[in-house]
Amino acid sequence: AGFAGADLENLMNEAAINAAAHNRQFISRKDIEQAFIKIGIGKEKKSRLISDEEKRITAYHEAGHAILFHELKDVGPVHTISIIPTGTGAAGYTMPLPGKDEMFNTKGKMLQNIIVSLGGRIAEELVFDDVTTGASQDIKQATQTARAMVTQYGMSDKFGMMCLATTENQYLDNRAGLICGEETAAQIDGEVLSIINKCYDDAMQLLIENRESLDKISEYLYEHETITGKEFMKIFREIKGIPEPEEESTKKSFMEQAMDAERQSKGNDGE
Ligand code: ZN
Repeated sequence: AGFAGADLENLMNEAAINAAAHNRQFISRKDIEQAFIKIGIGKEKKSRLISDEEKRITAYHEAGHAILFHELKDVGPVHTISIIPTGTGAAGYTMPLPGKDEMFNTKGKMLQNIIVSLGGRIAEELVFDDVTTGASQDIKQATQTARAMVTQYGMSDKFGMMCLATTENQYLDNRAGLICGEETAAQIDGEVLSIINKCYDDAMQLLIENRESLDKISEYLYEHETITGKEFMKIFREIKGIPEPEEESTKKSFMEQAMDAERQSKGNDGE
């Protein structure tokens, strides 16, 4: 969802390259998934050497994002989590399943996105004595979202529906220009900070509540380097004691169930 025609063409082209590289005549679902990750995240760079310590920190960082994606209802579900470095310089990534094509965002979803962004760093804080520079993109993204909420979308208590920024120069430097006095600008910073701090507290709370999952998932990630959404859910359910949903193939059809019931009722009659 959200891909324009040219994006789809690019996706299928990458998938075709992948299929050709494996001497296949046809594009498989796996080719498309790999192409999707490559386009969205950048090609994985397995050749980069990473230390054991870095790997462990990254595993916790990504597990932090993933758990929050899972816990918050308007974002996620998780598609893939990986601690293999990417060509764009990231140490790993957590990718949600792309959602529906939507005309607009909601305040609740924007807040949840900020919470997810902060989750990586918070997981590091919870587990290690120190924090890394690995969260710079997350911090930038969270701040941009909070700032847009206050200045463009009328989502702050203090300013209500007052327009505080124009997006006219967005093609020049991709930043919204403030249209207010200096004093107001300082208050905007205060509002942005308070949104981020509130989201920080929420993220911290959720990760403390889910500490066992955080440990288990980062452990699995450290060992396997990549987790699919399915594997992620399996670990999660095990911890919470939620039974596995029946696989489609093992489910009995309506007729089979009816025959079972008949056999059983005959059995009960003492035959
Ligand atoms: Zn992160």
